[in-house]
Amino acid sequence: MNKILVTGALGQIGSELVVKLREIYGADHVVATDLRSSSHEITRSGPFELLDVTNAKAMFEIAKRYEVDTVIHLAALLSATAEEKPLLAWNLNMGGLMNALEISRELGCQFFTPSSIGAFGPSTPKDNTPQDTIQRPNTMYGVNKVSGELLCDYYFHKYGVDTRGLRFPGLISYMTPPGGGTTDYAVEIYHAAVTAGRYTSYMAKDSKMDMMYMPDALDAIIDLMEADSSRLIHRNSFNVTAMSVDPEAIAAAIREEIPGFILDYDVDPKRQAIADSWPHSIDATAAKTEWGFHTRYDLKAMTKDMLSQLSARQM
Ligand code: NAD
Repeated sequence: MNKILVTGALGQIGSELVVKLREIYGADHVVATDLRSSSHEITRSGPFELLDVTNAKAMFEIAKRYEVDTVIHLAALLSATAEEKPLLAWNLNMGGLMNALEISRELGCQFFTPSSIGAFGPSTPKDNTPQDTIQRPNTMYGVNKVSGELLCDYYFHKYGVDTRGLRFPGLISYMTPPGGGTTDYAVEIYHAAVTAGRYTSYMAKDSKMDMMYMPDALDAIIDLMEADSSRLIHRNSFNVTAMSVDPEAIAAAIREEIPGFILDYDVDPKRQAIADSWPHSIDATAAKTEWGFHTRYDLKAMTKDMLSQLSARQM
């Protein structure tokens, strides 16, 4: 990676990834783009351009003007919102991806886009879900993610585009709010713990899902992009995870820091149905052996850091 274009840069992942990429590769080497503008520091700390990823011509023009050699494509509609707006989800998630892949082919760019545990479905084995397994998701987001994984494989095999990707679990972070995913509760619970000492979960008590703390997710993206290409067998859809947790487990970890924390439930059947179709825990062995995936934060370490960062921001 030398000159990097990031789409959807103001989102939960992009807003932190751009900061980290600029630290490593230099501020002028990371072109942040998004559909919207904001006062976020990434719009001032280096190049920032307004870009709708469904506009192929505009994306090509920006990529060419900045002479980028890497595209990190993050713009997407997430699982819960995609289920509410399936047509918009298809057009954005597939149209944007196709444009980003085409530009990478034409300009010879290395390419990264995240897949998700949403790429699995109800018939996938739920525990220790293998890297290669049944993928018949029943959500629009899941359909988009499986199609995206296949499309990225296709661009590698057909055109030699150096495509890479991770199947992210729910990502937990404190800087930017999550953008309409099924695992958003796992971020909200920490905010509520600090501000109110209690949280009402829309996800049921025993809904076990994979999660990962944002610093580990950012490292995973960079480590995979920097990995020796000849070692990669899977390329586009590596299972990665740091923990498999349910709301009760997160609440117990919070109580170690905030003893009186109260958790109750008001289950949202729509988001619960999506969660019920996903794995309980995925197997990240392929990522570990092919490019050395590792994490620094387990539930305890993440909870300690989340709560201290959020408390400091309260002051
Ligand atoms: P987000 O919703 O926080 O951010 C998405 C960004 O895309 C937003 O800033 C939005 O303004 C922008 N955007 C929307 N439509 C656009 C368009 N037409 N053109 C350009 N930009 C547009 O998402 P995120 O959490 O940062 O996720 C990024 C990627 O990672 C997505 O592909 C998502 O599916 C994947 N992912 C995220 C998680 C997670 O927990 N956050 C988990 C698994 C996979």
